[in-house]
Amino acid sequence: MRIAVISDIHANLHALEAVLAAIDADRVDQIWCLGDLVGYGPRPNECVALVRERASLCLAGNHDLAVLGRLELEFFADEAGAAAAWTRTVLGADAATYLGSLEPSASVEGVTLAHGSPRDPIWEYVLTHAAADAAFAVSREPLILVGHSHVALALASAGSGVAGGKAPPGTEIELAVGRHLLNPGSVGQPRDGDPRAAWLVIDTTTHGARFRRTTYPIELTQAEMRERGLPEVLAERLAHGV
Ligand code: ZN
Repeated sequence: MRIAVISDIHANLHALEAVLAAIDADRVDQIWCLGDLVGYGPRPNECVALVRERASLCLAGNHDLAVLGRLELEFFADEAGAAAAWTRTVLGADAATYLGSLEPSASVEGVTLAHGSPRDPIWEYVLTHAAADAAFAVSREPLILVGHSHVALALASAGSGVAGGKAPPGTEIELAVGRHLLNPGSVGQPRDGDPRAAWLVIDTTTHGARFRRTTYPIELTQAEMRERGLPEVLAERLAHGV
């Protein structure tokens, strides 16, 4: 089975549509989403509807929970909090119901999934070998999938410690040996210096994983953000992938 893993869409509909088109061209059997469907971006309802329609498994992220009122906005940076507050004013009942049904972590067929990390699925960023080591200690599964940092990462538990790091497009990982922690990167707001939408394909038959990047019309999302009065810094950063 081939599984596309997406995360951190952040209401960027043009990025999500481009990734779904690439997924459809890649003979994928299932789509898993690691959370943060909304927040930051201009098209929350459309993104939630698409993920609801297409993903067979979906987690809740910290932004989703904030927009639902389950996390206080005071824990968010100014622009993130402003965008979450705006999202609260436009989120439809169907989208809220779907987001409200999601959990920040899951376990499926040898895979631990968490928006942040297995020990703190809502808030922890796994960006260091120490954080990855803790994740491998908490989960017993051979494969851990996380989102939240918006940085595509491939880390492995290598006997005495953790190996690996950033995963540029085209990176291929052999999953049959050892334990692995993968972050697909962000569809809607990449922060690893590559502005293209990030995603990941896992093949459970060949035990391989491949990191992907897909171009999308960034300027259309930026224009929608400016029309809605969302913070300019959030629109600007999309062009730079930061
Ligand atoms: Zn996020």
